[in-house]
Amino acid sequence: MRRVEPALQTMSEFDLIRRYFTRATPSALLGVGDDAALLQASAGNVLVVSSDMLVCGTHFLPDADPFMLGHKTLAVNLSDMAAMGAVPRWATLAIALPLVHGKETSHERPHPNPLGETPSHSTRLQTTAAKSLVTPEGEGANESLCEPMFTVDETWLAQFSAGFFALAQQHGVELVGGDTTRGPLNLCVTIIGEVPAQQALRRSGAQIGDEIWVSGCLGDAALALAHLQGRITLDAMEFATCASALHQPQPRVALGLALRGIASSAIDVSDGLLADLGHILEASQVGAEIEFAALPLSAMLRACLTPLNPPLSGGKHNSSPDKGRPGGVGLLQQCILCGGDDYELCFTAPVARHTNLLSIATRLDLPLTCIGKVVAGRGCIVHDASGDPINIEACGYDHFR
Ligand SMILES: [Mg+2]
Repeated sequence: MRRVEPALQTMSEFDLIRRYFTRATPSALLGVGDDAALLQASAGNVLVVSSDMLVCGTHFLPDADPFMLGHKTLAVNLSDMAAMGAVPRWATLAIALPLVHGKETSHERPHPNPLGETPSHSTRLQTTAAKSLVTPEGEGANESLCEPMFTVDETWLAQFSAGFFALAQQHGVELVGGDTTRGPLNLCVTIIGEVPAQQALRRSGAQIGDEIWVSGCLGDAALALAHLQGRITLDAMEFATCASALHQPQPRVALGLALRGIASSAIDVSDGLLADLGHILEASQVGAEIEFAALPLSAMLRACLTPLNPPLSGGKHNSSPDKGRPGGVGLLQQCILCGGDDYELCFTAPVARHTNLLSIATRLDLPLTCIGKVVAGRGCIVHDASGDPINIEACGYDHFR
């Protein structure tokens, strides 16, 4: 990354929005610049609305690459549109940026920045309105009167914005509003799409006998995160292979559209296959049986599994300790079944649609894999290659645990 000489400037909130977050919005009746945007759904469609928040330290690491973070901030929201079978149209973006200190300038006091390092090009963001702001350091309620300062790394902002808009352009999404304020780095997108009401993909439509499918590969993003957290050691090539799944997930918007009228239910895999499939099962009041051996894995993840023990099962394979690398096969299995951040689609469809789905996979050049079936009852059973149930405790990531 090119380093720019440190330079402090005063920038109003509105200058910041104008410089980094304002683009043409030809499909909105009214875009950025008023109190609110005016949007009109196309004839025959209803609006589909979803919000997803990314919090530093919870959803991404402090040193996350800003371009890729901009991509991911929008991608996780596009993934929700894909899961509904919706065409994404518009988005708003609310950003909290770290506070320097209410009564000191960044000249006078070292400051944190989103990357947790010395900013290469810092701008003091001067609030221009006495908005209601969180005061994380317990400062006075009238602090806005004291010209509170932000630390804004303009290099970081420019790259974040570039990553966000590159993906937005790819999907024809227009940014029509948002907000900036101070606080721990926090990125929240509200996305708005549209779909004919009767064709929206819901979680509640799975039927007994349906096949369960998943797109792409599972577990790579969780494996990359496990490496970054020191829970497993990957070599440079292995890490590079799975890091893009973690940092630059590809939302399956085209697949979501193709599944209209074919899938009986759908969800995007954000919290792990078992957790998210569990939402479908609960909403549809059915159970599922999954074949572990059928789960789609990248060549890299499959290679990690192969030299080790076969997957843990409730029975005969458990006596063999994990070996080969820290974390072992138990962690790999956890990444595959319970790892978050895959942003693939998991969906159900009648058996009669099997051939249609294989054609869609070919047309989209995206693997679609049948991993099991919907059954009567509740809950999900995962079978190993011998047909024994794998002993998996509920392991989907719980944000409040
Ligand atoms: Mg979702």
